[in-house]
Amino acid sequence: MSVRVRYAPSPTGDPHVGNIRTAIWTWLHARRHGGAFILRIEDTDQSRAVEGSVERIEDSLRWLGLDLDEGPEQGGDYGPYVQSQRLERYHAASEQLLADGNAYRCFCTPDDLRAMRERQRAAGRPQGYEGVCRDLDAARAAARAAAGESHVIRFRMPRDGVTVFSDLIRGAIRYENRLLDDLVLLKSDGFPTYHLAHAVDDHAMAITHVTRGDEWIPSTPRHVRIFEALGHEPPTYVHTPVILGPDGGKLSKRHGAQSVLDYAAEGYLPEALLNFLAIMGWALDDKTEILSAAEMCAAFDLADLNPAPAGFNSEKLEWMNGVYMRQLPEADLAARFAERLDRDLPESVTRPVDGGLVEQFTPLIRERVKLLSEVAELTDFFFAEDVPVAEPGEFLGRSFRREPERAAPALAAATAALEGLRDDWRTEPLEAALRSLAEELGVRAGDLFMLCRVGVTGKRVTPPLFETMEIVGPAASLARLAAAETALRAAYPA
Ligand code: GLU
Repeated sequence: MSVRVRYAPSPTGDPHVGNIRTAIWTWLHARRHGGAFILRIEDTDQSRAVEGSVERIEDSLRWLGLDLDEGPEQGGDYGPYVQSQRLERYHAASEQLLADGNAYRCFCTPDDLRAMRERQRAAGRPQGYEGVCRDLDAARAAARAAAGESHVIRFRMPRDGVTVFSDLIRGAIRYENRLLDDLVLLKSDGFPTYHLAHAVDDHAMAITHVTRGDEWIPSTPRHVRIFEALGHEPPTYVHTPVILGPDGGKLSKRHGAQSVLDYAAEGYLPEALLNFLAIMGWALDDKTEILSAAEMCAAFDLADLNPAPAGFNSEKLEWMNGVYMRQLPEADLAARFAERLDRDLPESVTRPVDGGLVEQFTPLIRERVKLLSEVAELTDFFFAEDVPVAEPGEFLGRSFRREPERAAPALAAATAALEGLRDDWRTEPLEAALRSLAEELGVRAGDLFMLCRVGVTGKRVTPPLFETMEIVGPAASLARLAAAETALRAAYPA
């Protein structure tokens, strides 16, 4: 039987890292085994649906490179892939379960259920539906329903015995049936619950492995019984562990846990996030940490997952992002910088940004950039017609802080020296000229460079100065230096 696996999110917002890690593992399993990776949107709880979520789910998968074989956008032989478009299937299944006596109509009102929960709490008894309507006469219940009385349909869970199911990474899990209450399958609004919908769909879509968070474990014995009652073979279950935050609790927004698209916006590389999440609970061996998608696809198997929760380590993610940043071929990295700059540079810069220019400065910054989002701040002056002159204090290194009135004359001398290199405007001569001038003037070379750096770029932290000046070119560099000198002279008169 060929592997068919699915990612089945509810459209309640942007997918978060825990959820998407399960999707990554699911995708890897499909790719490793030549199977199909399917997206199914589980939107049966309409009250929790968030506008735009489906697009954000699809964008997240696309950004990470998790390509889909079937889904709402791709279509496929088992569609529709959105549960709200499959209601008749759930109705047919619940009719079948009712007819076979495996389900029953329940007329308990929300008030009845609230009162029941309060009695249970007060008596210190476990919570759960007590089965008030379980033994109603089926024909009479059907008549009440036909007369329009509001009701739900519940699964009739066996009262005694045990249910054992096997989880691929946890082995056999055993539950006593008397501890498991009768789940709602179909709600009063005619929508199914997750319990019914996933069973119907995972069967109908020929899903081989159900990968989902371990919060579903207590429901699984009931799910297995639902499959059985429908006459279907249950899939292989794989319950993935939670991701822990730094305080040992489940990672959540409180810890700054983020959605995939937040990481994209912050400037992480998708391959780094993919690698980082994939190995949080799975390992190729006891040492390899940097693994391409292709390497993981060749080796991954759901059976190898570690069922123990893993901790989210943001420093490791940052480190890994740096590794990927340094590993990318230069042209590829330049293309990503350009794409990011298209997004981040001020509107006054023409789009698309000058790719040739980006290629020129990419080697200068590739070692310094940890996140794509840092690129604009570091390189915006390359794109500006005029760079606003920085605050005078920004120009001053140690020696000029003591004698600021020497800054403007020093900058004037530097400008004059550089002027002579207009026709030989290359890194080495520029640097040689300024070094010998610093010696002549008796100032620290670094302080003289800072005057020029802030003059040409408007900031103190930049790519290497002379390479930068070479790219900016003589005309713009000299004009900016002249403007800076004027400003310094006014701020610190002799
Ligand atoms: N819609 C469920 C959720 O988002 C999916 C669980 C599953 O994958 O079966 O939690």
